[in-house]
Amino acid sequence: MENRAPVATQDMFGRPLKNLRLSVTDRCNLRCRYCMPEPEYVWLPREDILSFEEMATLAGYFADLGVDKVRLTGGEPLLRWDLARLVRLLLQNRRITEVALTTNGVLLAEYAQELYDAGLNRVTVSLDTLRPERFRRLTGRDEFARVLEGIESVGKTGFTNLKIDTVAMRGFNEDELSPLIEFARHYQAEVRFIEYMDVGGANEWRMDKVLSQDMILDALARRYGRITALPERGAAPAQRFCLPDGTIFGIIPSTTTPFCAQCDRSRVTADGLWYLCLYARSGVDLRKPLRMNEHPEHMRDIIRSGWTARRDRGAEERKALERVGLRDGGLIEIDRLREDPHLEMHARGG
Ligand code: SAM
Ligand code: SF4
Ligand code: SF4
Repeated sequence: MENRAPVATQDMFGRPLKNLRLSVTDRCNLRCRYCMPEPEYVWLPREDILSFEEMATLAGYFADLGVDKVRLTGGEPLLRWDLARLVRLLLQNRRITEVALTTNGVLLAEYAQELYDAGLNRVTVSLDTLRPERFRRLTGRDEFARVLEGIESVGKTGFTNLKIDTVAMRGFNEDELSPLIEFARHYQAEVRFIEYMDVGGANEWRMDKVLSQDMILDALARRYGRITALPERGAAPAQRFCLPDGTIFGIIPSTTTPFCAQCDRSRVTADGLWYLCLYARSGVDLRKPLRMNEHPEHMRDIIRSGWTARRDRGAEERKALERVGLRDGGLIEIDRLREDPHLEMHARGG
């Protein structure tokens, strides 16, 4: 195919195929209570995990159909050896204009320079607390200091646009909203508060643990005064706000105000299953046809027909359940999760 940007394939609701989240591993070096609280997990079989070449080939088919942004996620993507090589492979495709990374930051100081040199465009570090003891309780690991080092290394290597993603939870970090905003400002970063979602199934979710966008804005207005909403940016999930002193922060209100109507993202797991929605219960197997060396046009047909038939709006459907009093606990029963690890958030990437 030629290099001119293709017209993005549209789904049943006219949403374009634009953003691809590529989960490069289901393994993680943290055990965040809202994501991986179980003592044991069923891991994806090693032989099923795609090589970087396979991932880049798949991403190329998506790019032919409209994808221009790829975000590397996991599990913890930096556990995958030589991730910078994947960044380089992806950026060899001229249709992919941005490659970003979401990481827990533990290994970032080690790899920031080589990722920057490989051309990685953006880094998002997930960090939910600035208190080492809380961090240990939340993640089950004593790695707060390494995450800080990771965040510090980002600026030193030349990245701009650092984002800090914080899952905001009632009864856990609601007292850290302004410290996190100020922490981010110190690193020329922008913090984004994410509402706790009932994805996966073992994530101990309850509606009363969700710190909603309204609650966040109320608390911050009490602390800082008038908060101004900035104009919305198309399909970006975060609504951005400005404090009186000009500091900008974002909120991703996925639970109380889902943005499914604009959703242009889909996810490929490390073993090549394609999920059209974070809440989808099944995915399209792309590994099998890829490994059978199916013709590129056939691969594109599979993706095209998957996307054009897409009607997913998982978060809106969960929200509708809430209105009739049926939104209770996590999305998927634990036995079902043990049977199919793809249903976990750490397998499909957040
Ligand atoms: N390990 C990397 C990290 O933590 O940044 C990448 C994968 S992680 C699954 C991606 C994002 O999903 C993180 O920002 C994490 O906080 C978020 N996440 C996981 N479970 C969540 C939940 N139940 N509700 C909201 N966000 C969640
Ligand atoms: Fe935490 Fe990310 Fe690991 Fe999930 S994948 S346990 S959010 S660090
Ligand atoms: Fe997109 Fe599904 Fe999330 Fe809605 S719930 S924003 S459709 S991924």
